Amino acid sequence: MTYERGLREVGNGLYAYFQPDGSWGWSNAGLVVDGESTLLVDTLFDLRLTGEMLAEMRRAVPASERIETVVNTHANGDHTFGNQLVEGARILASERTAEEMAGAPPELLAGLLEQAPNLGRLGEYVARIFGPFEFRGITLTPPGETFAGELALRVGGKEVRLIEAGPAHTRGDTLVHVPGDRVLYTGDILFHGGHPIAWAGPVSNWVAACERILAMDVDVIVPGHGPLADKAAVRELRDYFAYLESEARARHAAGMTPLQAARDIALDRWAAWGDAERVVVNVATVYRELDGAEPNMVELLTQMAELDALLQQEGRG
Ligand SMILES: [Zn+2]
Repeated sequence: MTYERGLREVGNGLYAYFQPDGSWGWSNAGLVVDGESTLLVDTLFDLRLTGEMLAEMRRAVPASERIETVVNTHANGDHTFGNQLVEGARILASERTAEEMAGAPPELLAGLLEQAPNLGRLGEYVARIFGPFEFRGITLTPPGETFAGELALRVGGKEVRLIEAGPAHTRGDTLVHVPGDRVLYTGDILFHGGHPIAWAGPVSNWVAACERILAMDVDVIVPGHGPLADKAAVRELRDYFAYLESEARARHAAGMTPLQAARDIALDRWAAWGDAERVVVNVATVYRELDGAEPNMVELLTQMAELDALLQQEGRG
């Protein structure tokens, strides 16, 4: 897979900002411009990265000096922690996203990283996936406006539709659709070239979100992580979750733990995808739908650290 870096025009006044390689924390963002009107789709994981992105946008698109609107596609920090840098903008997200944002604040990740040397395998894992980012100094900046279901906006003469497609990746996933240009920004409803992670589920709802995208009249799809995509990538992700759900259910019935099931499910078709340790969270999310257990984020990170260590030993990490 070929990875781009930085800002690229993907349609008439529509931009995507790419961060290779799309793994943990390396998210994409978007910019919609018409005349002097601008809308930013997501900020990045820390202030340095977000500042660099905003500077590149200003160089390419002077109107982005004053961004009018920020849409956070979901609550994860790699799409929201830079919000404070977009001064004067109105920040919009779904109600569920706004509620969820306080759940994993920058202080939590900063604390985990600082404790990493004392946390054994979990610490090694956390240091690897979150170590490149700086979480100190970030002020959580939640949306000032929320919506539920759908919301139509105008950016200059362009119509921009916000469509709530979650809960799936998180509780409040939003798609940003620019129908006139047949472009869709998916947030983390689409991971391209890496395993997705279903923090919230239900997984069936993620499959439904993929079906919804496949029914839309769009040509260009900007994923939350990974390179520019089209519907083929959405089909692949739909097939992955449909398969994983049925395989996980069978192993739940057989009494396997999520880690045992994640090791047992054959995922050869997606062997080229990175971040394979996320399979254990996707299995755990299917299990949760069946038995109601509610693992917290640290438990899920611990399970991923275990699976990651096993995959590294096998040279598959
Ligand atoms: Zn993300």
